[in-house]
Amino acid sequence: MQFNPRYPELDARLYHQQMPLPLKGAKAGHFNQPLAEQLQWSAEEQSDWVAICSGQKTFPEFPPLAMVYAGHQFGQWAGQLGDGRGLLIAQIVDRQGQTIDLHLKGAGLTPYSRMGDGRAVLRSVIREYLAGHALNALGVCSSNAVGFTSSTQGVQREKLEPGAMLLRTADCHIRLGHFEWINQYQPDLLSSFTQKCIEWHYPECLTAEQPILAFATQVIQRTAIMIAKWQLVGFAHGVMNTDNLNITGSTLDFGPYGFMERFRPDWINNHSDYNGRYTYQNQPGIAHWNLWNWLNNLIPLATDPAEKEQFKADLAHSLEQFEPTFLEHYRIGLCQKMGLPQFHTDSFDCGMAFLKILQSEQLDYTQNFIRLQQQEYDAIKDDCLDRHQFETFLTQYEQIRTHQDTDQLNTDMLSANPIYILRNHMLQKAIELAEQDDFSEVDRLFQLLSQPYVKQTMLEKPEDLAPLPSDVPEIVVSCSS
Ligand code: AMP
Ligand code: MG
Repeated sequence: MQFNPRYPELDARLYHQQMPLPLKGAKAGHFNQPLAEQLQWSAEEQSDWVAICSGQKTFPEFPPLAMVYAGHQFGQWAGQLGDGRGLLIAQIVDRQGQTIDLHLKGAGLTPYSRMGDGRAVLRSVIREYLAGHALNALGVCSSNAVGFTSSTQGVQREKLEPGAMLLRTADCHIRLGHFEWINQYQPDLLSSFTQKCIEWHYPECLTAEQPILAFATQVIQRTAIMIAKWQLVGFAHGVMNTDNLNITGSTLDFGPYGFMERFRPDWINNHSDYNGRYTYQNQPGIAHWNLWNWLNNLIPLATDPAEKEQFKADLAHSLEQFEPTFLEHYRIGLCQKMGLPQFHTDSFDCGMAFLKILQSEQLDYTQNFIRLQQQEYDAIKDDCLDRHQFETFLTQYEQIRTHQDTDQLNTDMLSANPIYILRNHMLQKAIELAEQDDFSEVDRLFQLLSQPYVKQTMLEKPEDLAPLPSDVPEIVVSCSS
């Protein structure tokens, strides 16, 4: 590994140095070797992966540390938070020269653990491991993981579960909530911290006329694009608190997330979200709220009172770009999924008409885009109670596609419509086996989800392709992890 330890350059008030506390009886779970190669792990480091991913081996080049941050949880100010069960154990350079954080989750108590035990259970570690991998392969910016380990040590949740650790990778662990913590508790750090964020993550903004404004604009843009991609693949994060969004617009902190099966815009996978704050359809609005909240934390950076009002207006103006950026990426993505030309005025409405059918007929989102792509129109119609609605849609759909370059549109559809997503019941099966030390299903899903757009007849199982029958009770997913 090639180390680039830059987080420790920050003021020591922003973190606490801490060694991981290994679990008893650590054992191999799964190793993401292609990612280790991308991160330039040597053969020796790769053969040591269980020790590294279980906190038994740390690196003299980087003193492990827990970061402090704050946040708004479910819309309420939650005060100081921080890495309560995770440690930044290294920052290393990948093959492309990008610095990547290695963050060990489940590594024991830190000063920020509050009421928690500093641990993670195997169930939630597998959920995070496979989701990060799936999103990366789907082309959605996201954290990922080099591997995870299980253990013989039990960790108490609603019941006693096997403890586990995950070695997460991300381009950035600086959350919107970092700025909230600084403003609330150590405001003198704001300027130097912001400067570092720009240097590390948005160096192109350093030479802009107004670097902070350029930085804010970039964060807004990347977040809008990330959310558009979530919506297009049907991903619901589940806990979009300000401490769970980072400043580079890459998906972070997988808890009670879900990939939507039957199309329900008001769907929520998180059974702890009683008010439905984080439903699928609310994600763009919540991201906007989080960014608005974050921009307020940049206002003190205008030191000259005469310029403050103008700076506030400029920040507000930059946030106005969120909605058009989101909509443009969503619109283009939906046209690609539909196989409709982006520049035709009726394409977006036709896409919406298809979504309306999926919603009213409670059809599977992923499966029916694949049927559309394969022109299995009768199969979709057969599943509809209101066949007239589908026929009206199909007439308009075929009309728009007439006289278009359908070869190109069909190619677009292939790369925009995944065959495989991570359905809750697929995860459930993999977790149940893993809890009996059988990681074969984790491995199968890992391989399958490596190429979600490619048919893998040898690997797939019929249940990977469709939701469970609607009379089977949904798998309950909560914040417990
Ligand atoms: P989350 O909603 O999972 O992102 O977690 C919110 C905060 O709670 C973060 O500061 C976590 O580090 C902390 N936390 C969650 N679970 C635990 C745990 N088992 N032990 C200690 N801290 C935890
Ligand atoms: Mg979190």
